[in-house]
Amino acid sequence: MFDPFAACERPATRASVDSTTEDHLCEPHQRDERQESEKSLDGYPSEQSLQFVSINGEAACDYVGDLLSDSVTRCGVSATHVKLLTQRALYCEDHFPRNGDSL
Ligand SMILES: [Zn+2]
Ligand SMILES: [Zn+2]
Repeated sequence: MFDPFAACERPATRASVDSTTEDHLCEPHQRDERQESEKSLDGYPSEQSLQFVSINGEAACDYVGDLLSDSVTRCGVSATHVKLLTQRALYCEDHFPRNGDSL
């Protein structure tokens, strides 16, 4: 057994999907988020991937304003898009989880 929290110094060569979050967004908010993500993802191209998928307004916009302000209100307008953010964990060849396959 290895300690998953121990630092490994080998270079990462594999990525496995860690988590996916979904946010429903209305038209103006998905545009904002796209612009933001283009800036913020620049430095981390291999650890996160972001997709915007259009939907037919069956959900309300999840966008909440400035999280640091006191008056946080959820947008609530019908959503036109879903933002899918996939976080990936990077592993070296030895530590890559093999999903139960034995070698
Ligand atoms: Zn919105
Ligand atoms: Zn490793």
